[in-house]
Amino acid sequence: RAGASDAAQRIAKHLSPAVAKSSDFVAERAEGTYIYTTDGQKHLDMAAGIGVVSTGHCHPKVVKAIQDQASQLIHSGQNIFTSNVAQVGLLDRMLKIVPPGLTRLFFANSGSEAVDNAIKVARAHTKRQNIICFENSFHGRTFGAMALTTSKTYYRQGFAPLMPQVVVAPYPYCLHCKVRQAHPEGDSWYKIQPNVAPYDSYTARTCCNAPMESLKWILKQQSAPSETAAIIVEPIMGEGGFLTPPPSFLPTLRKICDEHGIVLIIDEVQAGVARTGKWWGHQHVSGEAMHPDILIFAKGIASGFPFAGLATRDDMFDGLALGTMGGTYGAAPLACATANATLDVIVEENLLENATQRGLQLTEGLVQLADKYPIIDVRGRGLMCAVEFGGHDGSMTASPGVAAAVTKAAGKRNMLLLTAGARESVRFLPPLTVSEGEIAEALSIFGDCLEDVFG
Ligand code: PMP
Repeated sequence: RAGASDAAQRIAKHLSPAVAKSSDFVAERAEGTYIYTTDGQKHLDMAAGIGVVSTGHCHPKVVKAIQDQASQLIHSGQNIFTSNVAQVGLLDRMLKIVPPGLTRLFFANSGSEAVDNAIKVARAHTKRQNIICFENSFHGRTFGAMALTTSKTYYRQGFAPLMPQVVVAPYPYCLHCKVRQAHPEGDSWYKIQPNVAPYDSYTARTCCNAPMESLKWILKQQSAPSETAAIIVEPIMGEGGFLTPPPSFLPTLRKICDEHGIVLIIDEVQAGVARTGKWWGHQHVSGEAMHPDILIFAKGIASGFPFAGLATRDDMFDGLALGTMGGTYGAAPLACATANATLDVIVEENLLENATQRGLQLTEGLVQLADKYPIIDVRGRGLMCAVEFGGHDGSMTASPGVAAAVTKAAGKRNMLLLTAGARESVRFLPPLTVSEGEIAEALSIFGDCLEDVFG
């Protein structure tokens, strides 16, 4: 990798050393599900920029939309004037796909920025301060979002004081529970190795409905409902390891929020925009019946162009004075045009269905690999799919670094793969356009990687 090492040296010298990089690939270009690097290699992309490149790299319709918009209007400034085609066109598209009742939108540039704005809206609306978030969550790197991020200590280490008035509740981490085994939704709810380990104290705290019990105590002991502005939750935990809660979890949260006038914020930054086979990850358990007060989207919405936002109920913005929300680049015409093209491609190419079908293919292949290698869990939905490794001896705890060793082996075999969570997990997040052949290729390479590490 001559080109790679040269570039790596310059990056090491001049770019922030605090930015972690999961591969040493130096890309020349990318197309569909493949990245072409400067050393003449072709890599299968099972990361899609962390679930961002939803329509595949450089989809021709997305490229054309960017080119066309760039020749018409690049910047308007949402606080100054409106771009007709891009911004108004996006409002029309978004209102068709956001959950019913969410009729107000706000556009920003990144997931973190959207999360910070959601907190502003919730606090202003309720005139309360506390925010309840969950263990294993990742909401971003700005000061507000970072204070709600608990997936790994290093995201927040050394940056105190963080945003105050945050309370952390346990999130369901059902590795070995019977409810999950019996769950009728079938598809991604596999149980791999029943009863391989004793029920440890972490599992007892986080299995099935135990987190809901904890939340009730939190509202009695730490954060009175009258002081709780919002509960913020990922419908499937993203960076935290693709934890997939039992179906009762989100509806119970909704009920608690309704009871106490607490704003329910669902962070769909990673699970949203067709990634799981539905427009929004929470819709797997709730259908039309359960929806958030604020929905946060980013990543897959604009195929890689920086773009994010909120969809809220009409009355949510009541408490906010004019001028308290905004930002120089939010709702940028180029970003809106890219999002328009992305949403059109998702509909035209039936990518919700493709995410479902390819997700099943991937999950089934991974479950088969679990027969041979120390995989203790396969989880997620659609093309948000992860495996967790256990010990060689069949225990629940893998040696530290196993997941990183697998992704490193994948890199050597020309496949880009990411780790996830504080335990030893690897996640698959290919473009939603991924083909049957490409998933088969990914499974075959992954099998070779497992042989490299565990064989
Ligand atoms: N929320 C979730 C669920 C995320 O996965 C992420 C990014 N990984 C963020 C928020 C933050 O988004 P960004 O990196 O665009 O700020």
